[in-house]
Parts: sequence; structure tokens; C-alpha cells
Amino acid sequence: MNKHADLLIRNITVYTQDSSRSVLQNTDVAVRGDTIAAVGKLEGWTAATVLDGTGKALFPGMQNLHVHIFQSLLKGLGADLNLIAWLQAAPLRGGPAMTASLQRLACRVAAMESLKCGVTTLSDFNYVQHNDELPHACIETMEEVGIRGIYMDCYHDTGLEMNVFPGFIHPADECIRRTDALVRQYADHPLIRIWSGASVPWGTTEHLYRAMADYSGSTGIPYTMHILETEEDNAFTMKHWGTPVVETLEKLGVLTDRLSAVHCVCLKEEEIDAFVRNGVNAVYCPASNAYLGSGIPPVAAMLEQGVNIVMGTDGAASNNSSDMIESLKIGLLLQKVGTRRSDCMTAQNMLDFTTINGAKAAHRPDLGSIEAGKLADMFIFNPAYLRSCPNFDTLATLMYNSSQENVETTLVNGRIVYHKGQFACGLEESAVVAEVEAAMKKFMAEV
Ligand SMILES: [Zn+2]
Repeated sequence: MNKHADLLIRNITVYTQDSSRSVLQNTDVAVRGDTIAAVGKLEGWTAATVLDGTGKALFPGMQNLHVHIFQSLLKGLGADLNLIAWLQAAPLRGGPAMTASLQRLACRVAAMESLKCGVTTLSDFNYVQHNDELPHACIETMEEVGIRGIYMDCYHDTGLEMNVFPGFIHPADECIRRTDALVRQYADHPLIRIWSGASVPWGTTEHLYRAMADYSGSTGIPYTMHILETEEDNAFTMKHWGTPVVETLEKLGVLTDRLSAVHCVCLKEEEIDAFVRNGVNAVYCPASNAYLGSGIPPVAAMLEQGVNIVMGTDGAASNNSSDMIESLKIGLLLQKVGTRRSDCMTAQNMLDFTTINGAKAAHRPDLGSIEAGKLADMFIFNPAYLRSCPNFDTLATLMYNSSQENVETTLVNGRIVYHKGQFACGLEESAVVAEVEAAMKKFMAEV
């Protein structure tokens, strides 16, 4: 047996997230190339790089499956407004003026902060669709920073009635053509996947729904959509279709296991049944739902009924960061408040949402757990901080009393991309911050 690895992590507690959710004490993990080669007591193994994991824990990399990258430059705009008013004050104010160089900067902010949180997969749902350079600026920056990326064009083919910026609206066929070009360009890329997605019910015609579902049916490409973030979605479909949004989508064949439905704040009991029936994934964005006063999605009820729930931070202008660790705690607490039941959702449930459930929604059986043969996306968690001590239960500590400082090392595709404040891409956090501050002073004076 070949006992040489590229990287060995010694003597660490491993939260494997395997099918029995095994937690292995004093364990070694070997990484060869992009893959986990072995997990266990690895006697006689050698590696070019050896990390000592004593007193620390290893978790599968977290997946942030809902972000709007460009909003990383718009934090704080429209604070204390509800969704529709906030859209005008923040994303629809700054979005139409986004350039490729600003998009690169925004993506550095989101991707670098993600690595500091132990997030190894970041999804951009990009509705800033007035400039063909933006998708490439985003994808190339994900490659630069070394994070696993999902990029989705976020379509509108209508929406003037709801003040969608005209430059973001394109005919359905053109939307699919653009996505297909990206799918072909990034086929077989080690880090990048392309999905598709319709923005909101009030920005989508029947033609676009059908085109998106057909494209996904023939290619297997997953897709996403904001659904029932607020009651405006139902008001719109009742007016134009005569049925509530979930019923409308089910009739159109849009509810499938390739759909990740974002928010679902106003989802009713019988609509949860429709999600279960069709295998729809739900994306929980608790910080954003709280920030915009949208409400508490029925995540505990969905969990009970077997919906595959995954996590997102949402855009950083409605959060106001891409801090997944903060969202873990907010997500757990919101459900306990909403149901008045402290046992309605557990730390283990939340770990599932961010790891193995994310892999399922992404149709990536090669991600989501720490097992031999899986891709090596992981992070090392060090509980030795004031906020986290005493540490009786590391999983509870991660969920309820930790922060970015606990994340010591993040690996993506077998590569150490973040370690103790340093990024392997060579970018310095302070230099990125200075560049953002200077660029945004100029930008805000002009929009
Ligand atoms: Zn969103």
C-alpha cells in the first residue's frame, strides 16, 4: 500500500459526516492530490506537509449555496428597510453600475471571507446581467482565491412592473444560450460548476420557466430561484396565473430535485408536501430573513417532513457579511424562537445543512464528508479562544460560541488555501480592504 501523501493532518478529532455521522478521536487524515487518501490511525505514513491537529477538530468544508457576490460592495446601504424598499436602495442602486473590476473586488471580499469561515463552496446567483464581462470576472476571481465556485446567471425576462432594472431583463432563449456557453466553457473544470436560475416569480414568464426546466432536464444542470421570501410572490402569481406560486411552479414542472428554492419564508404546510413530493431543496438564509424583517422560514417543519435543507448567507448587502459561522447560530436560534421549542433543530442538523445536504443539493456525491475517496474540502477548527472555552462539545462550540478566529486552516481540493490569516493566493486582507474603501468612495459619489 502506498503510504506517501501530499498532506497529513495528525491526531485530530474528525467530524466525518459519513452516513452514521461518526466522530473519530485522535485520528489522522491523509490527502493525496485533490482527494482524501485515508482516514484513521495512519502508522508509517509520510507527507511533504504535516499539520499537528492536537486539541483541534476537522470538519468537512461548508457550502454557502446562496450569495449575490456584487453585494459585497454594498453593505449597509438601505439598512432598516423591508425587501422591496431595500432592493431599490441597495442592489438596484449599485448593481446597474457594476463593472468587471468592481465585480473582481467584490468576489475577493466574499471568497476570502468565506475561506476564513471554513466555507469551501461559494455560489454566486448573479442578477447583475447588464454586462457580459461580469460572469467571467467572478469565476476568474474564485479561481484566483482558490475556492470551489458555483456560478449562476440569475434570469429575468420580465419585471418592469416591479421596477427591475431594464438592463437585467433578457429574453428567455438568450438567458439559456448564455448559460449554455458558460457550461461548455467550464466543463471539467476542477473548481467551477455552472448552474442556472430564475430570479423571482415577478421577473419570470411561463416561457422562461419552461426553458429553464427543459434545459435542466436535458443537461442535469441544477437551478435555483428565490421563492416566497415575502408574500409579494403569491400576490403576483395569483394576479397573473390565478394560483399561488408553489402550485404554479409544480404545474410548470419547475419543482424537481435539481431546484434549490431560496428563502421559503411564507411556505405553507401543504406546500412543504409539494417540496417533499418533488425532492426540492430549500436554502435557508436566516441572517438575511432577519435583517430584512421577512420572517422565519418553517425550517423546523421542513426538517421534520424530510426536505433537504442547505445554507446560504444571501448577498452581503442584506446580511451584512458573508460570515457563515454567524449564520449558523442565527439559523439555529431563529427556529427555536419561532417554534418556542429548543429541540426543534440541533447543532448536528445545522452541520448537515452546511455539509452533506449541500453536496446532495449540488448533486456532488464526491463532496460533503471526510471519507477516503472524497475530494479534500475541509477546515481545521481550533477551540482555544476565550469565546470558545471551556470546550466540552466541539460541535456545539462551532455552532453557538465561535467566530472566524477559530478557523485555522481551510483546504479546497486538497490544497491549503487559507492558514492562520494568510491566503495561498498571495492577497493580503488589509490591501483588499484598502482597495475596496477607495473604490467605493468614488463609486458612491457617482451612483
Ligand atoms: Zn438572494
